Amino acid sequence: MAMVYCRGCARQLHETAPTCPQCGAPQHATSSTKPAGGESPWMGIVSLMLGILCFMTLFDDSAWEDETLLGLGLFASTSLILGVISINQNKPGNGLAIAGVVMAGISLLCLVGLISAS
Ligand SMILES: [Zn+2]
Repeated sequence: MAMVYCRGCARQLHETAPTCPQCGAPQHATSSTKPAGGESPWMGIVSLMLGILCFMTLFDDSAWEDETLLGLGLFASTSLILGVISINQNKPGNGLAIAGVVMAGISLLCLVGLISAS
């Protein structure tokens, strides 16, 4: 629990506080190291991991249950949506998101092909 001093009134406040609770002065300029929470590339990472998971499931030779197809569709859709959001909002980790979207897209296409062929 690191404490910092307010830029406006010099009272102690927690380092993660965006503004001073005493005088309302913004504290962003003091936080030098950590990027804001919204800047983490988690969307791209999740998109990529789900995309890889779906992609690998495609090469699983075992017979597919309906639940497997449903789960694969859900994972691929989630991966696609997260990746597209990440790319649209120009978040860090866009390379991961693009790879995730590509793999999820291929997986979805194969899935649609499998369902329509059966
Ligand atoms: Zn203050």
